[in-house]
Amino acid sequence: MTDMIYPNHKDLYRLPWSLNESPIGWVEVTDVCNIHCEGCYRLNKSGHKTLDEIKDEILFLKKWRKCDTVTLAGGEAILHPEIVDIVMFVKQNGMKSMIITNGVALNVKLLTKLKESGLTGVSFHIDSTQNRPELKNKKNISELDLNAVRLHYAKLVADVGGLTTTFGITVDPENINDIPLFINWAINNINYVNTLTFITYRGMPVSSDIDYFANGEKVELKKNSLGYAVSEEDFDKINIKSQDVYSTIKKHFPYYNVNSYLGGTHNHKSIKWLIGNIILNSKGKMFGSIGNRVMELVQTFYHYKTGRYFVHFKKQRFGKKIFLFALVDKKVRKTFTEFCRYILIHPLLLFSPLKSLNIGIVQPPDFSADGTVDMCDGCPDMCVYEGKLINSCRLDECLNFGSFIRFYIKDKKLASQLSKTYDV
Ligand code: SF4
Repeated sequence: MTDMIYPNHKDLYRLPWSLNESPIGWVEVTDVCNIHCEGCYRLNKSGHKTLDEIKDEILFLKKWRKCDTVTLAGGEAILHPEIVDIVMFVKQNGMKSMIITNGVALNVKLLTKLKESGLTGVSFHIDSTQNRPELKNKKNISELDLNAVRLHYAKLVADVGGLTTTFGITVDPENINDIPLFINWAINNINYVNTLTFITYRGMPVSSDIDYFANGEKVELKKNSLGYAVSEEDFDKINIKSQDVYSTIKKHFPYYNVNSYLGGTHNHKSIKWLIGNIILNSKGKMFGSIGNRVMELVQTFYHYKTGRYFVHFKKQRFGKKIFLFALVDKKVRKTFTEFCRYILIHPLLLFSPLKSLNIGIVQPPDFSADGTVDMCDGCPDMCVYEGKLINSCRLDECLNFGSFIRFYIKDKKLASQLSKTYDV
């Protein structure tokens, strides 16, 4: 594509996260869910984990990951009958907790209890690829149609207070062009929304032109063998890259800049995680973004102080002290200049609180022509499986085949179709 705008990894801070030091520990408390999302990572097979099993996983992650936040995922995490005790256990162990939820079963009473037990934030997965009750009998859904649903949940979190709010969507060829509208919605509701995450649609390709192996044995892979197996008619969906999402955002929001990234484990050109933080006021006026130097200083200082890296802010707004970073970060200098220009014209808005809209882009595993799988280098979303750390996005392979699946693509044309890489 000639009109793509690429992020340049040389201008970005490579986040210092690794297997043993990561800001996040991923715990799937259940695989039960109350809706179905296309591209879901998990098959509903074994139900809720026991509280003891979950506590063991949390302690394992604390010890081996030194994590700052425990992400409670599923399935639908809030369906676990002991979710309040789980959140309390995370807090007792000195970590933050973030719940990933589709929101359907969430209410003020439960959220208040979770907050009182130490919950730090809620990350909503609400998008047009889900079979949500709000979408029943509706056709040709765009991401925009779900904004009223999102606002309902964002206000629910705001009513309880003191929690951060994240909204994530799975990006596929059908909704990628809705991203700017979705971001505009977040900007217009910046008093309720902190973070947006865009996860490109992922899946293990199922084809008779691919041989699959698990534990050294040839295995048969079918559409229903994994929550994320995709058949040939959907292969174009798994070819959306982080650069496609970045470019779509950058074209519409010139003030958006990214500051840090994680690359791939096999492909030096991959950008797997991409983080940007737009600075704006509570009226939604954008001034610019923070740059790589801020992220580097903040990660380093936080690690120096706590011995951990971080990814989730506890506070929901930046003070004007963010502009102190103008001394070391040219993106913040530009943002400060824009802010001053604006205040000269609108002096009364000097006291309008400054906020940050955090935008994360994640590009899950890519399947290469040589049979390797390009994962996120320093994967933050690792979970515990049989006493080992594994990438949570591939847990289904371990659960159903006893190991990660390795494969050989016999057809060269298919191999190159599945290996789209931007030559940046
Ligand atoms: S490799 Fe890790 S961070 Fe990347 S998609 Fe998989 S679980 Fe998430």
